[in-house]
Amino acid sequence: MEQPEGPYPLIVILTFIFFGAALVYYILVYLDAPFVKKNLKKYLFYRNLQRIYQPYLIRYFPFYNALSDRNKLKFERRVQKFIDMKQFIPRGGITDITPEMKALVAGSAIQLTFGYPSIYFRHFWRILIYPDDYYSTITQKYHKGEVNLGGIIVLSWKNLKDGFRSHTDGSHLGLHEMAHALRLINIIENPEYDFFDRRIMQEFDREAKKEILKISNGQNSTSIFREYSTTNKDEFFAVAVEIFFEQSKAFYRYNPKLYSLLTRILKIDPIVLARTGKLMK
Ligand SMILES: [Zn+2]
Repeated sequence: MEQPEGPYPLIVILTFIFFGAALVYYILVYLDAPFVKKNLKKYLFYRNLQRIYQPYLIRYFPFYNALSDRNKLKFERRVQKFIDMKQFIPRGGITDITPEMKALVAGSAIQLTFGYPSIYFRHFWRILIYPDDYYSTITQKYHKGEVNLGGIIVLSWKNLKDGFRSHTDGSHLGLHEMAHALRLINIIENPEYDFFDRRIMQEFDREAKKEILKISNGQNSTSIFREYSTTNKDEFFAVAVEIFFEQSKAFYRYNPKLYSLLTRILKIDPIVLARTGKLMK
């Protein structure tokens, strides 16, 4: 006796499953609607970096160039994922977001979080790019960049690019703003909450306070940290991150304690990296 056939033969069901999976994959990879970027791209498997971005990593990121081949591939894939997850929005006269802009923003974010493979600043999924300093109606001042609790990172392209002109001058807007974002995602309600050790950060802040006092009292005219770092503990941390990557050895010689606390917060030691290609000792 023949088996009675169900309402849907197996082949039809399999075809549906196949096309369903293909559709989901297509949506994840190619659809750039805000909803998809904010909520779904995180499920995307790592894919290789699109070729258009790689020349910028080689040209602008000594950090990337110092990595081992295995870590380079990891860095590239993480940069691609960051780009996939963010909505880049041109503002104030910028007409197009270029691949160079995306590569410099994403590269800065991934450099700072390279010790934390699953951190992508998910709270900050929109990135606004202005051509130059822009006027903020909230602070009523001109800014080079800011990180906004509502989930937006704002950057000015001219200042961002200037930060990459020298790799040793201790000034880097991309790393500076990402450092603010890093501190914020650790303390506000969001999917990546509390990923680094708060006690080490508190210790860093205590040491920072001593340094800020010295600079403010004029006792330390030779401080490696520029005047702006004395604004508050968040600005000190952001400035320290810039110097940590761009003047690592001088930072270590100047204040080994602050330097080593930063290596523990970020899980990266740029001096060791430059020497061995590994992130830490
Ligand atoms: Zn700042």
